Amino acid sequence: MGQAMDRAAPPVTRFAPSPNGPLHMGHALSAIAGHDLARAGGGRFLLRIEDIDGPRSRPDLAEEFRRDLEWLGLQWEEVPAQSTRLASYAAAADALRARGLIYPCTCTRSEIEAAGALTGTEGLIYPGTCKHRPPDPARPAAWRLDAERALAQTGPLIWEDTRAGPQAVDLSGLGDVVLVRKDLPASYHLAVTLDDAADGVTLVTRGKDLFAASHIHRTLQALLGLPVPRWHHHGLLRDPETGEKLAKRRGSPALAERRKAGEDGRMLAQQLRVQLLSLGT
Ligand code: GLU
Ligand code: ZN
Repeated sequence: MGQAMDRAAPPVTRFAPSPNGPLHMGHALSAIAGHDLARAGGGRFLLRIEDIDGPRSRPDLAEEFRRDLEWLGLQWEEVPAQSTRLASYAAAADALRARGLIYPCTCTRSEIEAAGALTGTEGLIYPGTCKHRPPDPARPAAWRLDAERALAQTGPLIWEDTRAGPQAVDLSGLGDVVLVRKDLPASYHLAVTLDDAADGVTLVTRGKDLFAASHIHRTLQALLGLPVPRWHHHGLLRDPETGEKLAKRRGSPALAERRKAGEDGRMLAQQLRVQLLSLGT
């Protein structure tokens, strides 16, 4: 299910930052990886601002992001921000709901913890509490993917990472993830899958911290009949002192800070390119 992409076609990649905080080195690495893979294949590099996280989203940061990318010496095409696409998320959620593939969940985080949820690749694995009980209309509901039902419909699925090779979809470490948040018409998983398809992205480039999420995105592509891209999950930067992987938002000064201090962004980009080559798993 889902349509395979023409492998010989020039790749379309994207960088999709959320304006919840400034860009850091990890973001720069992702942007450079996407940019360079597109350029090397004669393709296109897109910028998409993922600004649906209402209260945390700061529109002023998007302009800083553009300046940061320019400072790094990158060129891109900007596609519409997520906040303009809410209707498409709602339509997809309606389609999944009509097919019984998502179910309402009113649990709070503490209820999920109290139910003895195990920790999986992306945090707690939802123990399925709401799957078999009628929703309480008085409480706000998120909508979760019924992973068992979904995979029964799609059959076995494969996705391909350009570095790690073919991957068999396995949702067991993820559980029934949220596709529609209590406060928004989509979660990250649903929005990013729909947007990448709408933008014609053929090579999804991002850090290995999001590797597991691709199992979900591949499942959604199959369920919604979307084109199937390839993925490139790059290695993560490590703290030079502790050797620990640097999360995107921690551990280094913001790019904007370095830019405003007069540092040479193109030089930094060159250093990151060298690091990208040496970053293994
Ligand atoms: N907005 C997401 C982030 O900044 C994008 C992740 C992705 O590239 O899929 O983490
Ligand atoms: Zn629940």
